Amino acid sequence: MAFDIEMIEKVYATMAERVDKARDIVGRPLTLSEKILYSHLWEGMPTQAFARGKDYVDFAPDRVACQDATAQMALLQFMHAGKSKVAVPTTVHCDHLIQAKSGAEADLAFANKQSKEVFDFLSSVSNKYGIGFWKPGSGIIHQIVLENYAFPGGLMIGTDSHTVNAGGLGMLAIGVGGADAVDVMSGMSWELKFPKLIGVKLTGKLNGWTAPKDVILKVADILTVKGGTGAIVEYFGEGAESMSCTGKGTICNMGAEIGATTSTFGYDDSMRRYLAATGRQDVVNAADKVASYLTADAEVYANPEKYFDQLIEINLSELEPHINGPFTPDRGTPVSKMKAEAEANGWPIKVEWGLIGSCTNSSYEDMSRAASIVRQAVAHGIKPKAEFGINPGSEQIRYTIERDGIIADFEKMGTKVFTNACGPCIGQWDREGADKQEKNTIVHSFNRNFSKRADGNPNTHAFVTSPEMVAALAISGRLDFNPITDTLINDKGEAVKLNPPFGDELPTKGFDVKDPGFQAPAEDGSNVEVVVSPTSDRLQLLAPFDAWDGKNITGAKLLIKAFGKCTTDHISMAGPWLRFRGHLDNISNNMLIGAENAFNGKANSVKNQLTGAYDEVPKVQRAYKAAGIPSIVVGDHNYGEGSSREHAAMEPRFLGVKAVLVKSFARIHETNLKKQGMLALTFANESDYDKIQEDDTINFLDLTEFAPGKPLTLEFVHADGSKDTILANHSYNDSQIAWFVAGSALNLIAAEKA
Ligand code: SF4
Repeated sequence: MAFDIEMIEKVYATMAERVDKARDIVGRPLTLSEKILYSHLWEGMPTQAFARGKDYVDFAPDRVACQDATAQMALLQFMHAGKSKVAVPTTVHCDHLIQAKSGAEADLAFANKQSKEVFDFLSSVSNKYGIGFWKPGSGIIHQIVLENYAFPGGLMIGTDSHTVNAGGLGMLAIGVGGADAVDVMSGMSWELKFPKLIGVKLTGKLNGWTAPKDVILKVADILTVKGGTGAIVEYFGEGAESMSCTGKGTICNMGAEIGATTSTFGYDDSMRRYLAATGRQDVVNAADKVASYLTADAEVYANPEKYFDQLIEINLSELEPHINGPFTPDRGTPVSKMKAEAEANGWPIKVEWGLIGSCTNSSYEDMSRAASIVRQAVAHGIKPKAEFGINPGSEQIRYTIERDGIIADFEKMGTKVFTNACGPCIGQWDREGADKQEKNTIVHSFNRNFSKRADGNPNTHAFVTSPEMVAALAISGRLDFNPITDTLINDKGEAVKLNPPFGDELPTKGFDVKDPGFQAPAEDGSNVEVVVSPTSDRLQLLAPFDAWDGKNITGAKLLIKAFGKCTTDHISMAGPWLRFRGHLDNISNNMLIGAENAFNGKANSVKNQLTGAYDEVPKVQRAYKAAGIPSIVVGDHNYGEGSSREHAAMEPRFLGVKAVLVKSFARIHETNLKKQGMLALTFANESDYDKIQEDDTINFLDLTEFAPGKPLTLEFVHADGSKDTILANHSYNDSQIAWFVAGSALNLIAAEKA
């Protein structure tokens, strides 16, 4: 479990020389993000300046982290690549497969039984290949990474989009698909388009009811879910320094909700305090020696408009608590405006549930501030109007807040303490009555609130806010309750005003834990056996995808023209489907079932061009596959936003979809499609989207000349015989075209090894 101080010292040993060289080459002061990127080049010493938003660059990440849902496919792929041990420190975390229902003890016991096969598989693969394994109940991947592995100036990747959470400790931590993780675990470089940079200058100081969460809720409101695409967000200023390290983690965590590549903060005292409190004084000592390289050059923050592609300024002293939602995390409403907004939009005012925790907000500070609200309510004789649930981020947090009486405070309000795991945040919530699909409101301190995400009910209006606001709203039972101005009525009929939350940044008695739930790998794993039953419906060994036949794709059918938001949840739904994450054939039965068909406005209902009948998307695609007919998917803006799950790319690939043509892509999904040997294309003219008709047959006219920077030409033959010729752009470079030619990136790795 111990962090790898030798690896960290090695990173720091070369940092000064590399950053100084990069500064010379670039010819100007450097941002923190650039320092980390230029000190992690695959080639080692920088030799050229890279163009932001343009150049693809090979990097050498320091670590890899995988969660249990994505690790299954990542490890199946890693096994397929034929290596004996992971090349960089790697951990696997069991957190997504545990359903919240009755409470931690019963839920964990049930998950251990229900997913035993998967947990045993992950444990044995980890043991064999030198991977640290965090057992079910140990906590949520990003909280554990922050507590144990993140370090200032490091570069890590993780098979989960909220890997970005580790930016709170001054890392660049980036969510990737399993295929990227396999590359790095196999000792290969990891490629990324050199990101653009967005600077966020934080002035003033948080006060009263405002929390770090409100910073990112405000940023999401400003930038929207697309605004950070292809960019790193770098926070700085006196406001940044005044915030706790875990608060910074919350802000970085939700950078995923604006599509940012990642977010980060410069090394400061809050990080020193957090590292020391989590048993890593060695890291502080090492980081202090290179401290000036772990933040931007002073000139950058003095004149930020000269060095960032975009600059945002937020005065924390004036920032109001925000409540974002419903259905999208970028719809921000300051608490003072919620009454009017809720009325105008017909959002249910009654709050049914308040949920605290997730990887976003389960720090000691979060829990103690929320508990300070709960304690006031208990002391004043106020009964909570909504139900209350907590998912602690890690066993270390749970153990410590139990020791310090915080859990007991919550329990006085009838709070259910669920397992240290994702639970409702990923649809793993057996919420009573959700199947009735009633219109209702819940508030939570998680990061995502897409339709159906928490409980599967499309009519649940989920709002994202800080833990302390969740506590206040759940106690009041009203979405439009403003704790700054409003009062609550206690059991004596008296009006009571809640005082602003307060809490400790770090436990005064230190963190503690009895059994953190870690399994170290075998020194020599060569004799460890990994078993996958051929009859399993949860796990399936992979077979390689077919290589490209070198010809134009012709006679392809339009499978679906998706309208509007099409996230990875729409493409490969989570919730009950999580159980099939290690079985490609079975999970492919959820392919695109959440996407809205532009022609009939329905989800999971597309025309089968072979029969003319409407049927479920996976069934229609399986019919095309059985008939040996290729197909393509058309989509709207920011297609594939959301999580990093490569299943959203593997499923269409497995079922025979050849290309995805959209107005724009979310970065991770675009890369995942490329890795799986798919064609990820964008309309050269967005308005061509409107030309696509339901009965179209598609011919590629110049795929045989597929080359970097050269658009492809597609012919859409309509039912009446008329045609539209459409230009499609792509961002493939030579090595990515090689993946397409080989059938997948993994095929290429295996071929290179052979
Ligand atoms: Fe788990 Fe939710 Fe965090 Fe994802 S965002 S890691 S599902 S807690």
